[in-house]
Amino acid sequence: MVAVYTGAGLIALLYAVLTYRRRSETPLALPLSLVMAGAAEWALANAGVLVAPTRGLALGLNYAIFPGVALVIVGFFWHTTVSAGRRPPRIPLMLIHPVLLVAVTATDPWHHLFYRQAEVAALGIAVQHGPAYWAHVLYGYAMMGFGTVLVISAMRRAVRGQRRVYRWFLVGALAPTVGNLVTVFIFVDMQGLDLTPVLFLVSGAVWWWTDRSGVNSEQVPVTYAQVIAALSDAVMVLDSNGRFLDVNPAAARLLAAVHPAGGTVIGKRWQEIAGPHFTTMVADAGQTTIHGASGDVYDFRVVKIESADGSCPGTVVVVRDITELERLRAELTEQAMRDGLTGAYNRRHLTAVLEAQARAATDGQPLSIVMIDVDHFKTINDRYGHAVGDQVLVEVARQLTGSVRECDMVARYGGEEFVVVLPGIGAQAAAERADWWRRQCAARAVDTPLGTLNVTFSAGVAELTATGGPGHLLSLADEALYRAKRAGRNQVLAAEPTLSIIG
Ligand code: GH3
Ligand code: MG
Ligand code: MG
Repeated sequence: MVAVYTGAGLIALLYAVLTYRRRSETPLALPLSLVMAGAAEWALANAGVLVAPTRGLALGLNYAIFPGVALVIVGFFWHTTVSAGRRPPRIPLMLIHPVLLVAVTATDPWHHLFYRQAEVAALGIAVQHGPAYWAHVLYGYAMMGFGTVLVISAMRRAVRGQRRVYRWFLVGALAPTVGNLVTVFIFVDMQGLDLTPVLFLVSGAVWWWTDRSGVNSEQVPVTYAQVIAALSDAVMVLDSNGRFLDVNPAAARLLAAVHPAGGTVIGKRWQEIAGPHFTTMVADAGQTTIHGASGDVYDFRVVKIESADGSCPGTVVVVRDITELERLRAELTEQAMRDGLTGAYNRRHLTAVLEAQARAATDGQPLSIVMIDVDHFKTINDRYGHAVGDQVLVEVARQLTGSVRECDMVARYGGEEFVVVLPGIGAQAAAERADWWRRQCAARAVDTPLGTLNVTFSAGVAELTATGGPGHLLSLADEALYRAKRAGRNQVLAAEPTLSIIG
């Protein structure tokens, strides 16, 4: 047993020294080295008891384990507060117990408050504990218990990678704790055997392994609080009565804008700060988009906090300013519907609109389309170049868009072909309008860098029939346009058998 105690003591001492040397690398090294130094002193004093030549010296050395025990308690509690992301405990406060313990154990032979009786036994000192001893055990377990609670609560808040560090810390702490409980409560009569300091080697080994295997203890202080503070989203935590418990800096800025003279919002009710309009919004979990008066848009999310017992101790509200995102989304949606050159709607959007209109036109409202094709456009391209051709297309689209009603739609159907959708009017009225646009176009010369150009177009008009769909409508208009071209261009024809206008 002497060899076990001595071996354990020396290994613990070595570990204490090695850990102490790493104290500038991690805030956990110093408390850990205190724990190991305490365990070393404890184990070596136990060995000393066994080899002491006289009974008096053996009894004296038995008291010498307690500075080690006190050091272990200080180190353990210090380690737990640091790993839980809190400030280290105040050293003067932490020293009260060790000083009292040394004082009481040093004077015990006179008052016997610590050990009522102590006798040399085969494996150490067999003792009967006194009230001071129990007070010390109570304090020691209270501190270790409190520290363990701190670690467990930090573990529950932690992200997954950190949780592992806490878990292994607790596993490491378990071995000596169980060993000590067994020593104090079960092995009382077992010839003075004390396993606790030996079992600290298990802790040392587990903690050493945790430290080396990836998740570094230096990362432990990176808590959710810091992550949330860095978010640009406003995060607000309300208790079950709707009072503000916590807000991150982004939320504080947002609330200050809503409630300029408000000061701190912590402790105030949600209704008081956010106003009656938003009161019902936090009642249920979910997501809403809010449009502010000045055109800003917010994504508003409410999450109910669920505790392990199923109760709901509060609410988390996350508000994100999505004004810019919404503007970009609207812009992209618009761009996806438009033709890049002329700005008119594109063919894909035309098809979608025609299909939707055809479905809606079952209520008896007529729907007509005009298919327009620039005359001799190839010649314009050939004679003046592609850039001038482009300019002509832009000009025709501009003229058409400027001539139609709000409910009409001008789309670029192909190269120099456009389709105008005219809801609510029949083929005859549509053909009249189209002929007016044709005359306008023919009368207005297009200014180009290479001089003015006279541009004309031909058009075919068709009205949606009860039996034909959008595809049929387009082919009717195309067929009318083909006839208009054949008939000499610069004219509008309606699909047969409806009437025709020759311009
Ligand atoms: P028609 O009077 O019978 O319609 O004769 P056209 O020359 O107008 O008809 P055609 O279909 O032969 O020629 C259309 C030309 O339009 C051919 C093509 O190179 C040109 N084109 C198609 N898209 C564009 C474009 O985006 N820009 C320019 N500049 N030309 C285009
Ligand atoms: Mg063409
Ligand atoms: Mg053409």
